[in-house]
Amino acid sequence: MIKSDQPEGAQLKELNNRISGHELRETQLNSDLREQNQLIDALRLAEERSAMLAAIVSSSDDAILSKDLNGLVMSWNLAAERIFGYAADEMIGESMTKLIPQDRMDEETQILNRLRAGERLDHFVTRRMTKSGEIIDVSLTISPVKDNSGDIIGISKIARDITSQIQAEQKSAILSAIIASTDDAIISKNFNSIITSWNNAAEHIFGYTAEEMIGESILKLIPMDRQEEEPEIIDKLKKGERVEHFETKRLTKQGTLIDVSLTISPVLDLSGRIIGVSKIARDITDKKLQERRKNDFIAIVSHELKTPLTSIRSYLQMALMGGKHEVDKFTENLLRRAESQTRKMTSMIHDFLNLSRLEEGKMSLNLSHFSLSELIDEVVSEVVVLAPGHKIDYERSSGVSVYGDREKLSQVLVNLLGNAIKYSNEGTVVKLHCAVKNGLATVSVHDQGIGISSADQARLFERFYRVQDDKRKNISGFGIGLYLVREILKLHGSKIMVQSEQGIGSTFSFALPYT
Ligand code: ADP
Repeated sequence: MIKSDQPEGAQLKELNNRISGHELRETQLNSDLREQNQLIDALRLAEERSAMLAAIVSSSDDAILSKDLNGLVMSWNLAAERIFGYAADEMIGESMTKLIPQDRMDEETQILNRLRAGERLDHFVTRRMTKSGEIIDVSLTISPVKDNSGDIIGISKIARDITSQIQAEQKSAILSAIIASTDDAIISKNFNSIITSWNNAAEHIFGYTAEEMIGESILKLIPMDRQEEEPEIIDKLKKGERVEHFETKRLTKQGTLIDVSLTISPVLDLSGRIIGVSKIARDITDKKLQERRKNDFIAIVSHELKTPLTSIRSYLQMALMGGKHEVDKFTENLLRRAESQTRKMTSMIHDFLNLSRLEEGKMSLNLSHFSLSELIDEVVSEVVVLAPGHKIDYERSSGVSVYGDREKLSQVLVNLLGNAIKYSNEGTVVKLHCAVKNGLATVSVHDQGIGISSADQARLFERFYRVQDDKRKNISGFGIGLYLVREILKLHGSKIMVQSEQGIGSTFSFALPYT
């Protein structure tokens, strides 16, 4: 309070002093307030940052954990629970050693020593044990946790489960080893036919090194007259289809043509998208050579057998005709049987000759307009002799004429009728039917025989395929008759059809344009 007995000047001075004292305190207060606000802001920022860190830690795919210098767990995130199988409350305050497999116990001491020396361990690959005892591959990143004064107070660990990565690496190493050591050329290319990989066998088979071929077009290996194969293959693959055992020819660096069997598949990425093409090429030149030799052998043998057989057949026919009055019934019967067996052999030889021609790609048609009705008459009259125990039911057709190879179509009929007789019991009926329908001459051969299962029906026309079951074990054959039937009809633009039921019988049919 200003005393009133003071002189006026002194009072004024004191008043001024008091005012400036107030101002000083106010300034002080303001600065305290500002500092406090800054502190609060800093704290809030720190809190936010720590909340953010906590969220990152808990949502991480990697196990993030910390431990004190005694090795006791201080924090344990959700990923750690998922990877190691222990919940946070089972681990916090516990020793980490239960995660370490017996054979790696000393690893922990070594890690501690390195950390004490101020080192940080990045991507240290090792193995750990889960709660269920499973050993998993992990990659560890370990750093010391320091306080403000720089003293190490603990350790933080980030563990990534790399088991599937390691397995994938092992798988890919195995695959690489297989690819490098196989005898088949394994080549990959993109949809522009540019080669992206080329293994050792490809070098060996085609004569080009990987350096020479990677980045080059696959067309380099395809002979000029087969270049159209490539776009056809690519089209199929783009639709997700595979090309299997496609036999063709390819060109080596030396300019030689080799026989190859190609299996080509689309390469898919993890999402199922087609990203390229893989090709396995097997050199089948030797196999083809063997086949050619075998075919030549069959062709020569068949041809050589045909001549004497034709003579034997003619002699038998002459004996039968000329000697009718001179030979007794018994001998005549034997002559007839011998003659019918020679017909069977002639038919087999025809099959073999045609098989070898077909294999060599040398089967061609000798086309003409002819009467199918007459051909059927001839074939039926021949077959009747061979199957006296069967009733051949054939209502003669007349005037059905077609355009085709008479001899080969005769072979088709002989094979179908022969099978109908062979695979049905004596006393049953084999029915042959020929009619014109919708401009087509249709022929069907029906029997009341043992029938064919649907699984066998699907494979019946493959070369050398024979059904194996008890009912057929005493019936001989080579498995080429139906293969030839299919191929001969294919050359005529026609198709063989089968309908069959086991124990009931079978019907084989085909159609040819009526002329
Ligand atoms: P093959 O008769 O010489 O064995 P095919 O190629 O003519 O050879 O016939 C293949 C297989 O189809 C035969 O082994 C046989 O089991 C079966 N098959 C053919 N035709 C008939 C048929 N009509 N009835 C029952 N099975 C048949």
